[in-house]
Amino acid sequence: MIIDDRHYDFIIVGTGAGGGTLARKLAEAGKQILILERGGAMALDEQNVASVDVFKRERYHAPEQWYDGDGEPFLPQTNYAVGGNTKIYGASLMRMRERDFTAVAHQEGMSPEWELQYADFEPYYTAAEQLYMVHGNADGDPTEPPHSEDYPYPGIEHADAVKPVVEAIAARGLHPRPIPLSLTRRDDDPTGDSEVFGIEPIRERENVTLLTSAKVTCLHTNASGREVKAVEAQVGKSSYLYTGDIVVLACGAINSAALLLKSANEKHPNGLANGSDLVGRNLMKHQMTSIVQLSTEANSGVFRRSVCMNDFYWGDSNFNYPLGHIQNTGGLLQDTIFAEAPPLLSVAAKLMPGFGLKQLAMRSIGWWVQTEVLPDPNNRVRWGDKGKLRIEFVPNNAEAHDRLVFRWIEVLQAIEKTVKGLKSAKVHPRAEAPIQVVAHQCGTCRFGSDPAHSVLDLDCRTHELDNLYVVDSSFFPSCSGVSPALTVIANALRVGEQLIARHG
Ligand SMILES: Cc1cc2nc3c(=O)[nH]c(=O)nc-3n(C[C@H](O)[C@H](O)[C@H](O)COP(=O)(O)OP(=O)(O)OC[C@H]3O[C@@H](n4cnc5c(N)ncnc54)[C@H](O)[C@@H]3O)c2cc1C
Repeated sequence: MIIDDRHYDFIIVGTGAGGGTLARKLAEAGKQILILERGGAMALDEQNVASVDVFKRERYHAPEQWYDGDGEPFLPQTNYAVGGNTKIYGASLMRMRERDFTAVAHQEGMSPEWELQYADFEPYYTAAEQLYMVHGNADGDPTEPPHSEDYPYPGIEHADAVKPVVEAIAARGLHPRPIPLSLTRRDDDPTGDSEVFGIEPIRERENVTLLTSAKVTCLHTNASGREVKAVEAQVGKSSYLYTGDIVVLACGAINSAALLLKSANEKHPNGLANGSDLVGRNLMKHQMTSIVQLSTEANSGVFRRSVCMNDFYWGDSNFNYPLGHIQNTGGLLQDTIFAEAPPLLSVAAKLMPGFGLKQLAMRSIGWWVQTEVLPDPNNRVRWGDKGKLRIEFVPNNAEAHDRLVFRWIEVLQAIEKTVKGLKSAKVHPRAEAPIQVVAHQCGTCRFGSDPAHSVLDLDCRTHELDNLYVVDSSFFPSCSGVSPALTVIANALRVGEQLIARHG
């Protein structure tokens, strides 16, 4: 074991939405920080084709196996690189709705109240939208919470193939709006992510040390068990020990929980900070379905996602519980088809003889429908025997999701009668996200003021270790119906402020 003789103000583990954002905040405050990232740099050409490959070719599945509740192995769709999952994400950065922070009744139970409310997060949402150059326009969205400042850039234009579709949706009394997107306005690397907006601006600073291919394997505590004394990491072929005043985990909800569990010691026999037995529990990931709408006219298949709808977010005329969020996914060449869903492609192929994958991509629009799942302590991450990472997850709130899918297909069928170039179809091929799709993972170390019912306090410090924080998507007490990244980024800015104040 090699002991690094430097001592840092902060050690941050992971460079995704949480870690990358926090690193920038702390570095700009002049703190000495060490950033440990298990992945390496993702080459620009890979990023440019990332969305093509994410779903179809399993290219960005992590090079490791996880196991489901039955012990069956699978390759998780998660990305280890500088920028983490934001290197392959859709960059749609939405605020949670104001009511999402309160207790909300769903058909299958209650989504719990957050102890901080929308007003507490609002200034950080605004700062996050500015930092990540979000292009958006929420006009007309009946669910949009108040913004203290407008989006810093206007929403993007719809592609030619999408414009008439959006008009037809609006003509039905619904409220399509531009989806808020993080964009750099750079030709070489257009999508904004936590490498571009978090790490790149600080990586040359003398107070920042970034080590890549540095996988943290264990956190060691002092004799009392009240502080992390050292962080152990595998860097290349060697093991190193690093020390810092404050250690912040940002490995993603599943990996941060796994690291806490596997760092169990005499003082923390069930895993670090796990006196509540909640580390790893309440794992959430959205119910998601992608739906294919065929058109009779070719389109390039490479347009961006640009529109979203929240008309059914809180329910429908015949269903008084939340249903969820809808967006288009861009051309199918770009996105949408889960690699693990060959039946989707075979359905499409059967429907249209002589119609291959390429043609499907050139004549279609993808839709993405997602519904909140409720926290369930039995949905959990376990660090099992022989170092196996196990994900026990049974999705809930299924009826709400099915209703949203069928409601959306009804809308698609209605607009197909009026929009020239859309194929009128009785059947719309669709695929549900399987266990491998852990894109929207969150909730494994929920925050709250009561140590018996939460892992982190409201500053995202572990209740049990004074110098250990978690700033990735683990802290969510509920997942809402919108995508998580903007809330992770905003929270990292919020916690960053607390950390700077604490460190002095
Ligand atoms: C295909 C896809 C599309 C998505 N689209 C959207 C979208 O459009 N909008 C949205 O809001 N969200 C989207 N998401 C989700 C979004 O990317 C995540 O919510 C967000 O990145 C979570 O941030 P995080 O900091 O929790 O973790 P991550 O971004 O996953 O970062 C974790 C980091 O920790 C590193 N790490 C893990 N373990 C270790 C270790 N032991 N040692 C050192 N480093 C480690 C990883 O390499 C990674 O860099 C998408 C995700 C995927 C996969």
